[in-house]
Amino acid sequence: MPYKAISGIGEFGLIDKIAALVEPTLSAVPELLMGIGDDCAVYQPSTQLLQVATTDMLVDQVHFDLLTTPLKLLGSKCISVNVSDICAMNALPRYALISIAVPSSFSVAMIEELYMGMSYAAKEYGLAIAGGDTSSSRSGLIISVSMIGEVSREQLTSRDGAKPGELICVSGSLGGAAAGLKLLMREKEIMLEHIENNEPYNKSVMADLKEYSESIRHQLLPLARLDIVRFFHSKNIYPSSMIDISDGLSSDLQHICHRSSTGALIHENRIPIHPSTRRIADELHDDALTWALTGGEDYQLLFTIPEDEYPMIVDNKEISVIGEITDSEAGLNLSDIYGMTIDLTSIKGFDHFNS
Ligand code: ADP
Ligand code: MG
Repeated sequence: MPYKAISGIGEFGLIDKIAALVEPTLSAVPELLMGIGDDCAVYQPSTQLLQVATTDMLVDQVHFDLLTTPLKLLGSKCISVNVSDICAMNALPRYALISIAVPSSFSVAMIEELYMGMSYAAKEYGLAIAGGDTSSSRSGLIISVSMIGEVSREQLTSRDGAKPGELICVSGSLGGAAAGLKLLMREKEIMLEHIENNEPYNKSVMADLKEYSESIRHQLLPLARLDIVRFFHSKNIYPSSMIDISDGLSSDLQHICHRSSTGALIHENRIPIHPSTRRIADELHDDALTWALTGGEDYQLLFTIPEDEYPMIVDNKEISVIGEITDSEAGLNLSDIYGMTIDLTSIKGFDHFNS
């Protein structure tokens, strides 16, 4: 495709292209009365439901690296990370506003790729892209997505409702996104080495990654667990507390315990880690359990339920019970496969200002 600079079509030409790309997302949300085109989007809220709002910013070189991240997948990820926050409140996503700051080196096609990914993901989750803002950037690409969701008062779930004796559950598997990231970083090093030595980058190196595609997908194309929220709603299951795992099981469980004034005991042998994640950890001489506890970006749901609700989740293969909530005096502990107890607060997740 020939390179077409954004300056050639200008800000309004670009917004027209964006509007066309997100148009297919509108049909799922009849309550959105006006999308892109006016000063504000207009949404008709339901009188019965509460609205939840969240925002997440993704910054080049902090959250992603365009050398290893296709723009279409980045677009999809921006939507998914916000949907994941909405899911953590047991709510359903309804619409999003997207602000971008774009370096002048970007082509029109690059922004189209980004919005194709956003639009695709939004359609999958049944939410509308309703507007946004566009600026130039003197440094890298910055994407900020704000999202509104809806939930009934009874279904609203926060971090602070866990009680001693309740079960701690997690969806899907953990550590896969960290495994994918480690592989991509290794690949980038190899690529940069080739460039430094003036050797052509051999595509067959990338071909080796095929067998790891599942882990790389977890990193580049995480999916928010809207299916789990729909499962709760359809089965009348009311989690007592919930959070999405963005920073790692250890620190996100600490958030629940801190807000609920409880402790927790989880069991190493019950933490769901995919066999491929373990294999990659072995190959890279790393530790899959550490990835599950601190790797982050898995975007699974971590929640608590009263013990008598266990029969309602037991048949769902996507949910694992990994431990139980305890009194706050007992602290936060992991019992390892040898029966030793490890203080979870000594295991830290990702922190932007301490990494
Ligand atoms: P204003 O000057 O009033 O802020 P803009 O020219 O920025 O208006 O935006 C015009 C319309 O395009 C608005 O409906 C806005 O929501 C939408 N819009 C602008 N930039 C984006 C973007 N990056 N993504 C989605 N919608 C956008
Ligand atoms: Mg504007």
